[in-house]
Amino acid sequence: MYKQSEKHFTQAKEYFPGGVNSPVRAFKSVGGTPIFIVEGDGAEITDVDGNKYIDFCCSWGPLILGHKNHAVMQQVQSAIEKGTSFGTPTLTENRLAKLILENNPYIEKIRFVSSGTEAVMSGIRLARGYTGRSKIIKFEGCYHGHADALMVKAGSGLATLGQATSKGIPENVIADTLVLPLDDIDAVKACFEQYPEEIATVIIEPIPANNGLLKQRREFLLQLKELCHQYGALLFFDEVISGFRVHFAGASGHYDIQPDIASYGKIIGGGFPVGAYAGRKEIMDCVAPLGDVYQAGTLSGNPVAMTAGYAQLSECLKLGFYQEQEERTKYFVDSVNKFCEDKDYEFRLTTLGSIFWCKFTTKTIRKSSEIDADKMPTFSKLFHRLLKKGVYLGPSGYEVGFVSSAHTYEVLDKALDKFKSALEEIFD
Ligand code: PLP
Repeated sequence: MYKQSEKHFTQAKEYFPGGVNSPVRAFKSVGGTPIFIVEGDGAEITDVDGNKYIDFCCSWGPLILGHKNHAVMQQVQSAIEKGTSFGTPTLTENRLAKLILENNPYIEKIRFVSSGTEAVMSGIRLARGYTGRSKIIKFEGCYHGHADALMVKAGSGLATLGQATSKGIPENVIADTLVLPLDDIDAVKACFEQYPEEIATVIIEPIPANNGLLKQRREFLLQLKELCHQYGALLFFDEVISGFRVHFAGASGHYDIQPDIASYGKIIGGGFPVGAYAGRKEIMDCVAPLGDVYQAGTLSGNPVAMTAGYAQLSECLKLGFYQEQEERTKYFVDSVNKFCEDKDYEFRLTTLGSIFWCKFTTKTIRKSSEIDADKMPTFSKLFHRLLKKGVYLGPSGYEVGFVSSAHTYEVLDKALDKFKSALEEIFD
């Protein structure tokens, strides 16, 4: 069934570390051979062996309109005809920025970069430059890309003393990164009391979706903002996943909370490498060449990528787009959950907007420490059963699934049948 993929993966291992250009693609946590995709169309992807799958990974979130969306493809093709990159200002940048800023009242100025990692890294530098402070608070279970200062998890000793999550990160680089548990405002308070004048920013995925889907209380986010401002720090929403996904204005729009700085990625580029950081004018004006916080990029604001982003975001702005996304996702999630409830299975899908996550419990989970790692082998079984039946999830039990506008009720009904039979095989 996966013969060609196996052959190509063997070859890829000669070229790339672990055979891939981004680790989770290697299927390390679920076992088996990654499938090599040759084409996508709507909600479906086809692998090199000719197998077809309903795709809930959607390139890890960017493809909110599904694969090969007509409007995006058409506009990208005409942009390419004019050239691929100029390294000068282009009209495509102005057009995309205008679209975003006019429809997201929580930000006033934006800077385009080429990935989510770059967006967060630059936003952190800006927060430090603006406040003149060094320390940052992040939360256990939130991922913010692979910049050194953010590759930190909670250590075993003092609650806030972090440990690097990768080799190659010097201790002094993470010494200013304080790691706290989610959903625990007292821990944040205590940290501010300990370092009242040293914390530049508190960065959070306002809808944490990289370690399961750990929905936070609005109250917690509001209290974070209050504490930040009480102590002269900036609130930083990392909206790389939630931006343009749960609302055009991301989690800020969903919760109606304005951060001081926000980072974006994924959907903003319509399937091309784009990231952005944004915020209040007064803060953004500290960025070079206007201000003294340096940040640059050869391919930043690339005209083809800007065009893809513009085409995709224009579709997202159509009346009822987010409501429909949410309704279809809820239909799918509720149907799976009703089935599991009737069968008394220890499995539920949890959802927000058009994001969902497979959890092997009926309890609400808000912190990464509440996720039972012993259930991950069961996720691997589910993943492979679904793969065989023609459903592709992100290959890790900690990853979330994404529903696109190409996931029609008809597609979701098909996926539902496959989920039901995979769950029966596992639990019965
Ligand atoms: N921030 C968040 C919340 C993310 O989910 C990701 C990637 O998944 C990143 C930052 C890093 O983005 P990229 O992979 O584009 O560098």
